[in-house]
Amino acid sequence: MLSQAIALVSQIPDPEIPALTLSDLGILRSVRLDPEHGGIVVELTPTYSGCPATEAIQADVKQALRQAGFTDYSVNIVLAPAWSSDWITPEGRNKLRDYGIAPPACGAPQLASSSVVQLTRRNNTQTPVVACPRCASVNTTCLSEFGSTPCKALYRCLACQEPFDYFKPY
Ligand SMILES: [Zn+2]
Repeated sequence: MLSQAIALVSQIPDPEIPALTLSDLGILRSVRLDPEHGGIVVELTPTYSGCPATEAIQADVKQALRQAGFTDYSVNIVLAPAWSSDWITPEGRNKLRDYGIAPPACGAPQLASSSVVQLTRRNNTQTPVVACPRCASVNTTCLSEFGSTPCKALYRCLACQEPFDYFKPY
């Protein structure tokens, strides 16, 4: 029963970025059995508090469990520790890129530019290096600090001229 719930919940798509699941985004903290009642307890950490998608995600999880025949469950929001974009899985980062959104660069150890990014962030004099999700060029410029949602910034690639969303690091 628990493994079924885990498989079910981890495959639920994020309402804002349907290409990614809740587990890809790292917002699914845990799925466990309540030691007292034996019900399913799902813990979620929103990408940032106040994100309007949080309630939608909570409702999606409840609906999925109900439709799968679960009757005893609770879906809790856990705000501490705060979600970090570092929690996005490597697979999630690849899916973001495929979806046309540049994944958050900061703290990503697999990116060669991460040390540069951390340095520029610390000095706060330059914007982070953001690679184009389409052609991987780092010759990009920030058009707006706010893209299609407050979680994203709008960038344009100067190599292929395509605008794209950048998932801002948190
Ligand atoms: Zn490009």
